[in-house]
Amino acid sequence: MRIAELFYSIQGEGALIGVPSVFVRTSGCNLRCSWCDTPYTSWKPEGAELTLDQILDEVRAHPARHVVVTGGEPMIAPEIIPLTQRLRDAGLHITIETAGTVFEPVACDLMSISPKLANSTPNDPAWGPRHERLRIQPEVLAELMGRYSFQLKFVVARPEDLEEIRALLSIFPGARHHVILMPEGTDRDTLAERGAWIAEICKEEGFRYSPRLHVDLWGNQRGV
Ligand code: SF4
Repeated sequence: MRIAELFYSIQGEGALIGVPSVFVRTSGCNLRCSWCDTPYTSWKPEGAELTLDQILDEVRAHPARHVVVTGGEPMIAPEIIPLTQRLRDAGLHITIETAGTVFEPVACDLMSISPKLANSTPNDPAWGPRHERLRIQPEVLAELMGRYSFQLKFVVARPEDLEEIRALLSIFPGARHHVILMPEGTDRDTLAERGAWIAEICKEEGFRYSPRLHVDLWGNQRGV
């Protein structure tokens, strides 16, 4: 299985923010967000081939009860089902961070779904149209939300993103109380500026707000 990085840190986003967790980051993605903060898993994928035994050994080397399988898009990783089953057998709480465009019947305790909004579509002749066509898959979202405990985490860059979020929630009204808004940005100043008005939107709409704690603490680095 191609793994871009495997490291121990704290969860920096979403409902489990602050929880010490081992991150298993698969390499490869079916989308190409213009602002992708892990281009080494998408635009220029890299990583080492690790066996499931090697992954499990590395995960268990850390004193964490939580594991986060992220990417890239972990749902397209060829061994994602046996990997998640092995992690469950090891007694770990599993979060999967996915854009919600592909369904696989994985073992998962928290499905962290981050549908990509129009602000993500790259101005790229090869990838732009494909990304735009793929980024919202209502049937896949319905399947993921129906089968798992989930959070719907939106990366917000501009006020008009809210119109798109509202349109999506009109299809899935029951998902409203699972929504988390998070500012797009990989530096503290951008996050602080966007965070201020996004927090006001959260108050108005009753959405949860998430900072990007790992960026606040360590900046935009790999392995944190
Ligand atoms: S879905 Fe995630 S990994 Fe894939 S391009 Fe977008 S931000 Fe990057």
